[in-house]
Amino acid sequence: MTQTINTDQEMLPVMEHFYTIQGEGYHQGRAAYFIRLGGCDVGCVWCDVKDSWDAAKHPQLNIETLVSTVKKTPAKLIVITGGEPLMHNLEELTEELHLAGLKTHIETSGAYPLSGSWDWICVSPKKFKAPLPDILPLAHELKIVVFNTSDFGWAEKYAARVSSPCKLYLQPEWDHAYEMTPLIIDYIKAHPQWELSLQIHKFIQVP
Ligand code: SF4
Repeated sequence: MTQTINTDQEMLPVMEHFYTIQGEGYHQGRAAYFIRLGGCDVGCVWCDVKDSWDAAKHPQLNIETLVSTVKKTPAKLIVITGGEPLMHNLEELTEELHLAGLKTHIETSGAYPLSGSWDWICVSPKKFKAPLPDILPLAHELKIVVFNTSDFGWAEKYAARVSSPCKLYLQPEWDHAYEMTPLIIDYIKAHPQWELSLQIHKFIQVP
């Protein structure tokens, strides 16, 4: 049975938190405050944040302190990412963010049960640990990281399980972007329900 690793709602392991530009998906280009939680056991071979995997390596931060830090910035949109953020109970964090008048967005593989209250749910399923079926119909955005050509068929398997208004994105894995982006463009032209997501924060060199 899948279980969250932290039921203490007052503290969360935070790898980093910073105010930046959302670089991916539907909200690409918008100012956003990112909170990257530690802990992930999904094990993507191409993961670009492997330091996040061990939650114990990251300081436990008090949610109240974290939210008051966010409130000192002009941020309106808060992105909770990881790691796999749903390894933690996110009810209190999202409640406090909403009380502060902020929008809550999450980026998750979907491999753990949903907790928290969300204005935007981006599910990015991974081959290494399948998403739970219940989260897929709740997604506002499905983002598939394309590492090789077999990922197109794999993407369609999950596109069939999300709701009809859910936005569909194909995003080249960063280290394979040179080979995969032209193939993604051809695929989107043939299947126009999909859109291209690029990690623009890496191009403009912001976190
Ligand atoms: S789910 Fe995200 S953090 Fe976890 S291994 Fe995959 S890419 Fe890395």
